[in-house]
Amino acid sequence: MNSQIKVYNQLKTYSRRGAKKNKMHDRKANVATAEAGVDAPTRLLLYKLINNQILEQINGIISTGKEAVILHANSDAGYAENVNEYNRTICSPQLLPKECAIKIFKTTLNGFKQRDRYIKDDYRFKDRFSKQNKRVIINMWAEKEMHNIMRMQRVGINCPDVVVLKKHVLVMSFIGNNHNAAPKLKDARLSSWELSYAYEEIITVMHKLYNQAKLIHADLSEYNILWHDKKCWIIDVAQSVEPEHPSALELLMRDCGNIITFFETRGLPNIYTKEQLFEYITSLNAKTHNAAMLERIHTRGASISVATSPSQDECPEELKNLVYPFDLAWEKSQCERQQREPLKSAESSCLTTADQATSAMGTLNINVPCACQENKS
Ligand code: ADP
Ligand code: MG
Repeated sequence: MNSQIKVYNQLKTYSRRGAKKNKMHDRKANVATAEAGVDAPTRLLLYKLINNQILEQINGIISTGKEAVILHANSDAGYAENVNEYNRTICSPQLLPKECAIKIFKTTLNGFKQRDRYIKDDYRFKDRFSKQNKRVIINMWAEKEMHNIMRMQRVGINCPDVVVLKKHVLVMSFIGNNHNAAPKLKDARLSSWELSYAYEEIITVMHKLYNQAKLIHADLSEYNILWHDKKCWIIDVAQSVEPEHPSALELLMRDCGNIITFFETRGLPNIYTKEQLFEYITSLNAKTHNAAMLERIHTRGASISVATSPSQDECPEELKNLVYPFDLAWEKSQCERQQREPLKSAESSCLTTADQATSAMGTLNINVPCACQENKS
């Protein structure tokens, strides 16, 4: 046989073997990721994270919620920065956490329904509410979570570190140890001293979040606070909004209510009422600004001081009960910020990385899920 044909045959056998092996890995990956509701394009993103040596292995599901799936992964010890475009993580190789949590925002119809409420009644979205745009909007949610985490980081609030964002897949540091995720505050067993400490910590965090990070969590409760290293860690901030958001005060009051109810139920004495907590955070006096009114008021994009000025009792009837899109407010605030400080922050470098499909696909190592919980929040 001539040597050229020999080489060709060898290559063919090798590639067949490779294909078979990949098929096996694929099947394994399909089972595990299908279980977690991860679709094919998302699996490709995960493959790429492994192939580009950011992640070494994906170990299993931490949580499957209505809007997101959280997986546990190990980072790749061989990761080196700036090897290629794909490898641009937010943290440096030295700071790459050993254990990572991957938050995959669901792109399925079911998951989308939860967010739908913020856009479906808004005339500005009527024409854009097409299948094609769902992915874009979901990517925006992931991006928003990343930015909000980074804002919390900047003011020293305990929260995960962002590792990398790829479309609707956000990789962050894992809060927990040795594959065991830290418990949610609702499940944590706290001594009375720890309970009191957690309360003090959370109200300080809420104050910092509003006054320094200029954010309102908007889904803060014992479900989105983890208890780790005897400290509270804030997670799940995709929906968090700025104080200028039209529903900011309502959302803040709701957060205050959730937190106070939790500590009340746990029997912690001498705590604020939700109105007092609201006042502590915003310095808006509940007597001057009737708290019930504050809860209902829509600021309609006006600043809080204007919207709550004593001369304005309540917003006009026709503007009540509007459903405001978080996404639009986010988009607007992003544009404004970019105009203010063009391309200044590290945040902007990883915004809209157009992911090129790589031809070489790595293998996805899926082990038995570690701690799979149905996530209520
Ligand atoms: P969802 O939108 O599904 O509520 P979350 O961000 O709240 O998404 O994550 C769901 C659950 O996954 C959390 O309650 C927590 O148990 C776990 N989780 C999320 N992020 C992390 C993390 N960085 N480290 C450890 N566990 C996490
Ligand atoms: Mg949550």
